[in-house]
Amino acid sequence: MIYPQRLSKDEIIRQVLPEAPKRITNKLILDLWNKKLVELVEDSFEEAAEKISNGKKVVVLGQKFRIEKEDSDFILKSLWDRFLKIDSVPNLRRIIEAEEKRTGEKIELQPRLSNELSEKLRLWPYTLIKEAVNNSNKEDPPLGFYWVGPDSGARAISWIRSIDAAILKYLSDKQENIKIGIGKFYGRNVRVEIKHENEKYTVDLTSLSLHYEKDIKQYSTWLKFLIFCNCKDMSYRSRQHDKWVQNIDLFCKHGGAGFFKAIEKSRKEYKIEKGKMIRINPFPLPNESMLNFLDNAANKTLILDSDNYLRIPNKTELDQLIGAETVRKSYDNGWFHWQKRFKIY
Ligand SMILES: [Zn+2]
Repeated sequence: MIYPQRLSKDEIIRQVLPEAPKRITNKLILDLWNKKLVELVEDSFEEAAEKISNGKKVVVLGQKFRIEKEDSDFILKSLWDRFLKIDSVPNLRRIIEAEEKRTGEKIELQPRLSNELSEKLRLWPYTLIKEAVNNSNKEDPPLGFYWVGPDSGARAISWIRSIDAAILKYLSDKQENIKIGIGKFYGRNVRVEIKHENEKYTVDLTSLSLHYEKDIKQYSTWLKFLIFCNCKDMSYRSRQHDKWVQNIDLFCKHGGAGFFKAIEKSRKEYKIEKGKMIRINPFPLPNESMLNFLDNAANKTLILDSDNYLRIPNKTELDQLIGAETVRKSYDNGWFHWQKRFKIY
C-alpha cells in the first residue's frame, strides 16, 4: 500500500517546472498551460476525475471545486446534501424492486430501514452504498455516506477517513511507533487504545456485528454500530460535542483502524467463540487504483482559489474528488469491504 504523502504547492509546480519562481502567478500558470505542462479543468467533476486518474500532468482545478474551511465545517457537521443517505426511501425502493423481480414476492417499503426489512433483504452497508453511488449524479459527487440508526442518530463515513483508517491499520502492522491495542469483547463492545508517537486515543466500538455465520441478526446489528473516540476530529464533529445539537457522528480514522483490529481479533477468537466473529464491515477499503487516484489528487492537483491564488486541496476537497472518481468508475471498481484473510494489503 502506498502512503499518500502531501507535497506543498511549490513542490507540485516544481514537478513540472523545476525552476519555477517563488511567486506562482496567473501568468505562470497560463504559460504552463500554453506549454501543455498542466491541465486546467474549469467545472466538470467527471473531466477532473478522469484527468487526475490519468496522472500524466499536474491538474489545476477552477473555483467550482473549492470548499472553503467554513463551508467544509458546516457540511461535515450537518452532512447537508453532500453525503449519500444510503438508507433513503428511493435507495431502498430500488433494492426492493430488484428483490421483488427476483423472487416474485411483494415486499413492503417503509419510510425507515427497520431491523426486519434489513434482515429480510440481508442488507449490509456495501449493498446500500453501491446502489446509492451508482445512482448518483456525476456532477454532484458525494463526500461520503451515512445511515440513520434506531436511536435516530446519523452514522457518517467520509471516503478519505475510511482510506486513512486502512492506512493507519496497515502502518500499525509495519511500524513500531504506531500501536493499536485491543481489549476484551464485552458482548458486542470493545475498547481500543491507539498510540502514535506522543498521541494517544481511546476508541469505544459498540454494537459490533459479532455473530455466528447463519445468524440473521448480523443484518440489523450494524444499523446500531457506533464509535466514540476522544480525538479532535471526532469530538468536534459528533454528538459528543455539546455545542452541536444535531444527532450526527462522523466516524474518524482511529475508529476505522480500531474496527479493523477488532475484526482481526474476532477472527483469532473464532474457534474459542465457536464460530462467532465480526461479520459486517461498513468501512470502504480502497483498491490500488483508488489509492493511486488519491495520491494524484493529493500530490499532482492544485485548486485555483479566490484572487487566483493556487493551493493544495484540503481534506474535504479530496473527499469530493474521490467521490467524483467513485461515481465515474462505479463503486465496485474503486472499493471493497472484505478480504478473505482480512489482512489489509
Ligand atoms: Zn479518532
